[in-house]
Amino acid sequence: MKNHNCDVLIVGGGMVGLSIAHQLIERGITKSIVLLDKENALGKHSSGRNSGVLHAGIYYKPNSVKAKVCVSGARRLRTWIEERGLPINPCGKVIVPPKPELDSQLDVLFERGKSNGATVELWDQKQLRDLIPEAESASGRALWSPNTAVVKPIAVVERLQKELALKGVRIITGQTWRIEDPLKCQIKLGNGSEVFYSHLINCSGLQADRVAHQFGVGLNYSLLPFRGMYWQVKADCAIKPKTNLYPVPDLNVPFLGVHFTPSADTIPIVSIGPTATPAWGRENYQGFESVEPVMAANNAALLLRQYLANRGGFRKYVHEQAFLTLPHLLVKAAQQLIPSIRREHIELSQKVGIRSQLFNHTNQHLEDDFLCLLGPNSTHVLNAISPAFTASFSLADLIIESTGLATQTI
Ligand SMILES: Cc1cc2nc3c(=O)[nH]c(=O)nc-3n(C[C@H](O)[C@H](O)[C@H](O)COP(=O)(O)OP(=O)(O)OC[C@H]3O[C@@H](n4cnc5c(N)ncnc54)[C@H](O)[C@@H]3O)c2cc1C
Repeated sequence: MKNHNCDVLIVGGGMVGLSIAHQLIERGITKSIVLLDKENALGKHSSGRNSGVLHAGIYYKPNSVKAKVCVSGARRLRTWIEERGLPINPCGKVIVPPKPELDSQLDVLFERGKSNGATVELWDQKQLRDLIPEAESASGRALWSPNTAVVKPIAVVERLQKELALKGVRIITGQTWRIEDPLKCQIKLGNGSEVFYSHLINCSGLQADRVAHQFGVGLNYSLLPFRGMYWQVKADCAIKPKTNLYPVPDLNVPFLGVHFTPSADTIPIVSIGPTATPAWGRENYQGFESVEPVMAANNAALLLRQYLANRGGFRKYVHEQAFLTLPHLLVKAAQQLIPSIRREHIELSQKVGIRSQLFNHTNQHLEDDFLCLLGPNSTHVLNAISPAFTASFSLADLIIESTGLATQTI
């Protein structure tokens, strides 16, 4: 078996791992990179299963890491995609309050968007209807984001993988691995070969906490998976919003609410979703194929405690979002945005994603921002939730800064 020596070993070949490899090369830091993924192909998890929305940077609290990297990351990724002629739908996005009492949240989002560097405009009902005739704003106002776009996430992942391989990144797929002593900077692959590294970067998405724990890092964190199902508007239905249509979200929970998203296909497919219901396995996409009973039982108990204590607005999340897998509730949520949409207009989509929300056992809250922790000769990217796909190039720069690799000679 062939052993590998490298400066940087990246564990996890989703958009975050790929972007770190991309930026290490672009910035001339090192080309000696091994990227290791347990799956036989890249993009099998969040990076290939998301809504494909390049977010414009509206939602995030000023000074949060998300706010710092979303606007510039979206601009950079969009340029990269356009230069390569990959599919993109530059359709923008409208956010509407589904209830009159949520109207003031539009002003909060307007201010946040502006201070984060996003372009935003407040619209009236007429402007909203000119763009989406069937849409409804409960208060008569809406927020318009012209720079939101939709891409095909798997096409982005595959192109980035191809370019990195051409630039010399050694991409190893379909291998399990184990580490005996993190201080030795050496892992053993399932095929018996070894990888020797100077620095390891853990970008393993839904498994990132488990990998970090092997290095003694982030022991007070664990991941709570939430399953996102999508529906889609049937091909013969006349209701086809040409732009993203989102409700004003509850800013206390990390889910944006059920929304309409036109795809980047030549004839766009309009999806509705994703839902956000607890997943009883981190990679349990179909709902029964890979349930993790111990994790599921622990998480159910934890979620019940959160509900009873109503921490972080959790009770509101449960009442409004946790049961949206039930079609009649999903249709009801969609009708808050487009009142004329009916159950017979929509069908279940094949697409399912699972979000990797990080739970902080010290303060008993879901972490809202990206989190990057340092360990022995290693960096661990925890909580690479939305908009990590959008922000990936700029987020990668920030992660590289935190490793110290940018200032070392390696
Ligand atoms: C339903 C849904 C909708 C979303 N919508 C959007 C959106 O519209 N816009 C947006 O910007 N973001 C969106 N996101 C968030 C976005 O998809 C993620 O933030 C992003 O893809 C995270 O990338 P990642 O590389 O960290 O994780 P992943 O893409 O999950 O990659 C992790 C990789 O690590 C590998 N791995 C795991 N464990 C190991 C191990 N032990 N050894 C080796 N490899 C391992 C996995 O196989 C996987 O390939 C959405 C997410 C979901 C779930």
